[in-house]
Amino acid sequence: MKWTSDVLRGNSVATRECPYCGKTVFDQLKQCAYCRETLPDMRRPKSTSGGRPAGKDDIRRGLLFMLAAAIFSYFARGSSPLTLPVQVPPIVADYLAPLLFLSGLGLSLHGLYLRHRTSS
Ligand SMILES: [Zn+2]
Repeated sequence: MKWTSDVLRGNSVATRECPYCGKTVFDQLKQCAYCRETLPDMRRPKSTSGGRPAGKDDIRRGLLFMLAAAIFSYFARGSSPLTLPVQVPPIVADYLAPLLFLSGLGLSLHGLYLRHRTSS
């Protein structure tokens, strides 16, 4: 049964040891599956904010926004031989694409600013 415990101890499933019987149980359980004792609630702090360099996600998202804006305006203005299945009103193309581009630019700059601030 070593294989099973190794799988349970893997990173994919969060487990912990029961303080009463010492068996490995799932972290989400409020009650031990083996001895039926109530497990103390000791959730570890989530490490979603830590680890990654700050601002990196913002930069990536910003670039994605700008790319989407470029593609959007390219198609909406009829510059491409392909036609969209839906008709885009000119006012949408005139206002939404630059808006999308600017918000993407802002996000990127914000990300760069965060990165600069944390690195220096
Ligand atoms: Zn137990």
